[in-house]
Amino acid sequence: MPENTETTELPVAVIGAGPIGLAAAAHLIEQGLRPVIFEAGDTAGAAVGKWGHIRLFSPWRYNIDSASRRLLEAEGWEEPRLTSLPYGSELVERYIEPLAAVPAIRHVLHTGTRVISVSRAGMDKTRSHNREQAPFLVRVQNAAGATADHQVRAVIDTSGTWDKPNPLGQSGLPAPGEYEAVEAGFITAPLPDVVGRARARFAGKHVLVVGAGHSAANTLISLGQLAKNEPGTRISWAVRSADVTRLYGGGDLDGLPARGQLGTRLRQLVEDGHIDLHTSFTITGFKTADTLAVHATTGDSEAQLEVDLLIPATGFRPDLDILNEIRLEFDPAVDAPRDLGPLIDPEFHSCGTVPAHGAKLLAHPDRDFYIAGMKSYGRAPTFLLATGYEQVRSIAAALAGDQQGADNLELSLPETGVCSTDLGGSCDAPATDEAPAEAACCGPVPAEPTLLGIPTGLAHGRQTENA
Ligand SMILES: Cc1cc2nc3c(=O)[nH]c(=O)nc-3n(C[C@H](O)[C@H](O)[C@H](O)COP(=O)(O)OP(=O)(O)OC[C@H]3O[C@@H](n4cnc5c(N)ncnc54)[C@H](O)[C@@H]3O)c2cc1C
Repeated sequence: MPENTETTELPVAVIGAGPIGLAAAAHLIEQGLRPVIFEAGDTAGAAVGKWGHIRLFSPWRYNIDSASRRLLEAEGWEEPRLTSLPYGSELVERYIEPLAAVPAIRHVLHTGTRVISVSRAGMDKTRSHNREQAPFLVRVQNAAGATADHQVRAVIDTSGTWDKPNPLGQSGLPAPGEYEAVEAGFITAPLPDVVGRARARFAGKHVLVVGAGHSAANTLISLGQLAKNEPGTRISWAVRSADVTRLYGGGDLDGLPARGQLGTRLRQLVEDGHIDLHTSFTITGFKTADTLAVHATTGDSEAQLEVDLLIPATGFRPDLDILNEIRLEFDPAVDAPRDLGPLIDPEFHSCGTVPAHGAKLLAHPDRDFYIAGMKSYGRAPTFLLATGYEQVRSIAAALAGDQQGADNLELSLPETGVCSTDLGGSCDAPATDEAPAEAACCGPVPAEPTLLGIPTGLAHGRQTENA
């Protein structure tokens, strides 16, 4: 905790009013701390609203935070049926919006306010003297471009990753011609509503979906629906891997049946010939004319696809630019907090489950600064709301000085059913005293106080994992 009394009286900044940011605020309020929430969008839940037409694969039971529920219930909120699966739009309308309207939250929520940088007041990253006593400085910008500085005692960055989709080219970089193809409107935003709002744009077109995962599956299944009713609609799907078995997910073995069914339906569409699947497809460039020419290598040969539209489903990465002046320590591969990275690295973990973790695991060298929610997973795609709710409960307790509460972690997540894959390392991160084998793998996570982490060196380079 900051030792300076004036600093401890300052609010705690929460960046982003998504479900996890609002949960952070609710837990801070319960702990007697004062949050101030900055949200770039016009309303809370702005990012979820962009994929409002997508149905969540986790039922309401897993999507409601405990402290948020208590705030809502005090206002007479009607709980949704816990076993039903909401659309993103329902998550916003039935949970996020009512939560943002609770007076304790509403009075501290600044919408239309984007955080553009975070620093320590009066010192840059290189200054160490009295650093921990200095409050944080959060610089925000409104839609008109006006900036303002806020001093706060701590920062919880829950700004998600929605605004930063991964590029389509190889090596993690945009392919030649990619910017031009975006500018010309050939490459769309992720997860467009192809059977709803954006139907006219996709009907009767040859559409290429690039990438794997749930976003790709959702988009391809919707395109399959569109193609049934709109003659001339053609669907291609390109993935980098050679074998798609894993992309179809855990099917019946998935602890969240809706998530398992996505893969099963996708497999059916491919096997029935409604989707042309291109494996080992690495994009090397784009040429725009009347259509979009997508150039790629496919193993030893070269390929070219002519399409009308391309929908990227290549995942997201965190915006770390706003945190340039903060002392951070990341896992070098995943861009997640150092000790979280090895537990969620998609190259080694196909599971959605993760050991319960909180303030200790999420801490950075700049004390009282945390990244939580979707953004805490960096480039890893398996984040679940329930994980984030436990993260921010623990962080709020730590900021309030309740170390025992912060360490007393509890999280029970459904499994994906694809935990034992042929990756040779999916759930086999080495067990340690701090991360027992069961927790490091995909079994139900024990509800007990756990200090998590894998010894430095082993985890960072992953060098001995499969040796
Ligand atoms: C299509 C899809 C389906 C998903 N389905 C599920 C599911 O079924 N179950 C599940 O548990 N999880 C699911 N997830 C994963 C995850 O739970 C969600 O992405 C969730 O919205 C993450 O919450 P968050 O609060 O961390 O981030 P977000 O919901 O992305 O919220 C971040 C907020 O920060 C704001 N923001 C961004 N930058 C700034 C800035 N610089 N300054 C101020 N504000 C900023 C954004 O406008 C946004 O409102 C899904 C994700 C996607 C994309």
